[in-house]
Amino acid sequence: MDRGGFEPGLSLGLPDLLASWGEAWGVADLPGRIEVRFSQRLRRTLGRCQPERGLVTLHFGLAGSDLLPEVLCHEAAHYAVWLLYGRGPRPHGPEWRRLVERVGHPARRVIPAHEADFQIPRSTLRSRVYLHECPVCGVSRLARRPVPVWRCRACVESGRPGRMNIRRLEEP
Ligand SMILES: [Zn+2]
Ligand SMILES: [Zn+2]
Repeated sequence: MDRGGFEPGLSLGLPDLLASWGEAWGVADLPGRIEVRFSQRLRRTLGRCQPERGLVTLHFGLAGSDLLPEVLCHEAAHYAVWLLYGRGPRPHGPEWRRLVERVGHPARRVIPAHEADFQIPRSTLRSRVYLHECPVCGVSRLARRPVPVWRCRACVESGRPGRMNIRRLEEP
């Protein structure tokens, strides 16, 4: 799948992931329904889902981590269960487990702390991680400083300006 031309390690590719899971789960336009935010405020968990708000909040350290797809999938599946089955099912019950496993992720309720190897001191990262995101196709790229000259290659190639929105990975 074309993720817009950035090196795969740098592109977060979240809309593509959500789109493919939505297809597998029978949920139309999953990327449009879920807003993903990165937060430094999560302490005891790597992710959180508030289905009524269509909001998934992820630990900011996940932005550069191999664990990102699994945690996003975990949370997005909570949303899908809520959408498909309502409030009835248990949070990590069989409905949730089936969705997660259907798209090839382990249905783990908890990710062991030693696997989350991105616990870089907050003071180091707070001023240093900037998410550059294409408002058109959602392609994103991280840097330790804002790089306003970066352009979304996919957009540029199709004749658009390709400017990217830049924001720090933290909540005010
Ligand atoms: Zn959960
Ligand atoms: Zn773009």
